[in-house]
This record gives sequence, C-alpha cells and structure tokens, in this order.
Amino acid sequence: MSDNTVNRATFDAVMVPNYNPPAIIPVRGKGSRLWDQEGREYIDFAAGIAVNALGHCHPALLNALKTQADKVWHLSNVFTNEPALELAKKMTGRTFAEQVFFCNSGAEANEAAFKLARKYAHDNFSGDKHEIIAFHQAFHGRTLFTVSVGGQAKYREGFEPVPAGISHVPFNDIEALRAAISEHTCAVVMEPIQGEGGVIPADPEFAKAVRTLCDEHQALLIFDEVQTGVGRSGALYAYESLGVTPDILTSAKGLGGGFPIGAMLTTKKVGASFGVGSHGTTYGGNPLGCSVAKAVLDVVDTPETLDGVQRRHDLIVERLEAINAQHHCFSQIRGKGLLLGAELSPRWQGRGGDVLAAAREQGLMLLIAGPNVLRFTPSLIIPEDDIQQGMDRLERAIETLKPNNQ
Ligand SMILES: *Cc1c(COP(=O)(O)O)cnc(C)c1O
Repeated sequence: MSDNTVNRATFDAVMVPNYNPPAIIPVRGKGSRLWDQEGREYIDFAAGIAVNALGHCHPALLNALKTQADKVWHLSNVFTNEPALELAKKMTGRTFAEQVFFCNSGAEANEAAFKLARKYAHDNFSGDKHEIIAFHQAFHGRTLFTVSVGGQAKYREGFEPVPAGISHVPFNDIEALRAAISEHTCAVVMEPIQGEGGVIPADPEFAKAVRTLCDEHQALLIFDEVQTGVGRSGALYAYESLGVTPDILTSAKGLGGGFPIGAMLTTKKVGASFGVGSHGTTYGGNPLGCSVAKAVLDVVDTPETLDGVQRRHDLIVERLEAINAQHHCFSQIRGKGLLLGAELSPRWQGRGGDVLAAAREQGLMLLIAGPNVLRFTPSLIIPEDDIQQGMDRLERAIETLKPNNQ
C-alpha cells in the first residue's frame, strides 16, 4: 500500500474518535447512487442525513456552484453580496418571514435563534424573561447552547456547566407545557417533526396550542426546520401544512443541497433586536453557498418536486408495509413526506445498527434515529425505480437477519 493511500484505518490514526464510520469510503455520487473506493455501488436513502435534497451532483446545483466559483467566493459581512440578497428575497417572498440571517449550519442557525429570542426579551421586556422551553428527545445541534436546549441528556453530559434558564417538557403534551410556561419564558422551540429523536411528528392540535400558549405569555415560538424544511415534509416548510406560523424559523441541511449553509428567518419586529454588531459570522451568507441554495429552492419550490415527495412517500410506505407483512419487523411506520421512520417491533429491539450494516452489505445506505427506528430521508427527486430497487435491497437485508427470540 503506497503512502498516499487513505482508508478506514487512516481515520483511526488521524481523526478525533467522535465518529465511527463503516469501512467503506464513498468517492463519487450521481443522483441517488453512490460508489465507494472499490467501485461498489449503493442506492442512497440517507442523502447525507436529509441534506442532498436533489441527490448528488444535480446539474442545476453544479452549474450554480461553478458559475459563482468563477466570480467571487468570499467577501465577509463587511460587504453584502448579490447571491445572499437574492436568496433572502426568495426566502422572505415564500415564507412568513421578512428578514433572514445566514450562517453555515443548523446549529449556528439555532444558536442565532436562541440568542435572538433572549435579546428580543431583554429589549422589549426584562432580563428576567430569559427562559427557553424545549422538548424531550429534541435535537437542535452540537454547540454548547444547542445541546443544552436539545432534549437528549447524553449530548450534554460531560460538558457541564451548561447555560442556565433552559427546561424540557414531554413532546405532544400540552398540559406539561402549560405547567412550565410563565412570564419568564422568552421562547418555546420545537421541531415540526422530531428527526433525530425518532421521527415523531407534532400533533397539529398540539402545535396550535403551543402557539396559543406562547401568545398568552408573550413568548416567541421557534420552529427548528433544519431537517423538516426545504420540501422534506412535502411542503416547502412544514409549518405551512401544520397551519401554525412561528416567530423564528431555522433552516439548514437541505437548504444547500450539500453545500454548507444555514438560515434563520424571522419577522422585522423580532429581527430588529439583532442590531448592528449584536451577532455575526465570517462565512455566513457567502456567495458560493447562497448561489447554490438559490438553485436548490428554484428546483424544490415547484409543484413537480413537492407533489413528487408525496408520491415517493406513498411508495416507500407501501413497500415497508409489504416487508412488515412478511417479517413483522416494524411496530409503526410514521413521518411525513420523505422524512419517514419505521420503528422496530419488540422482537427486533436494539437492532437498528444491524439492519443498517446488513443494508449496506446489500448496497443500500440507510439511517437510524436511535437504536429502534429506521429512518428514510432520500433525495426529494429520487427516481421511483431507485426506490423500488432500494426497497428490494432492504428486504434482502432483513431476510439475512434473524430476529431475537426466534
Ligand atoms: C441536523 C439538525 C440540527 C443541526 O444541524 P448541523 O448542521 O449539524 O449543525 C439542528 N436541528 C435539527 C432538527 C437537525 O436535524
């Protein structure tokens, strides 16, 4: 092996051990197919964790990236730039929002949202109104503030002390929120569909009641649409179909279709609290990311793409139900659009990782959301034939695994 060869062993040698990737290393992608170093081909139901909304190397995104690459890559926020302004016009034109803050990831978008909610309360009420309420199992990113607001203790443990003034209540339980919310609450944050937490949709009645409680207590409602946004749920943003409008919305993942970009959207009234110098980031709103995101929205925000999400959803659910009829491996199939979860049945408890590995052996890339939920987040435009072949591979993978106690 020559010195310049890299492989999975290189990872253990030179990377901090916070991830545990499989042995294969993908080197090339096209549409919803990927190829590894050995030339083995995979169907991609993971899409880089709901990021590659238009698959790999979509021609419109390639064109946007290459065209902008020939013009200007980076200016910093000392200057503004045309792609950022065009993208912000597009996003405000198509949502409740009137103003946008650009950053580079979902965690940064949430970090901005939480800081803005506190600043807005400081500016309009008092420093006592600083508490943030979030939900159990929620995921909002990995910065210290976002793991603190997130509802999974394992992501906070060992990093204490964490920021104060944050509490958590059960999701889809309005009485628990009613008991926790007060005049000290500056914001309530929720995912319209909890993604990492197990693909758990918010009950629409719950979401409406959260909005009402926020209004009664002059607290802002923040929707973390980092995973549900940009067509993933079948609407451009999931809040549209929930019928509940937040005060702040965060977007990332699919927004750049693979190019790192995040955005925080809000109203003019709330946005006013981010005055000059109050918050910032060097790369946020850079011309390359904004050009690609604009191209993503041009393709995603069309009836063809959004209606196609529901068709693909139906096809995956139909195939999952057929697999379940045969193997009794799922206790529930849930989610919206192309954010789908299949919860493993009691006999298959804890075997999500095994299914993932077996699927990979069959040439299928899949995700889990916790040890007991298979998660499907393919490209929004995955060809129906790739879905059928991918589901064939999943079925073969499940056949190779014997359930516990059988
Ligand atoms: C992925 C995710 C984040 C974090 O985004 P990063 O880009 O990894 O920082 C935040 N919220 C939700 C709902 C997510 O799914």
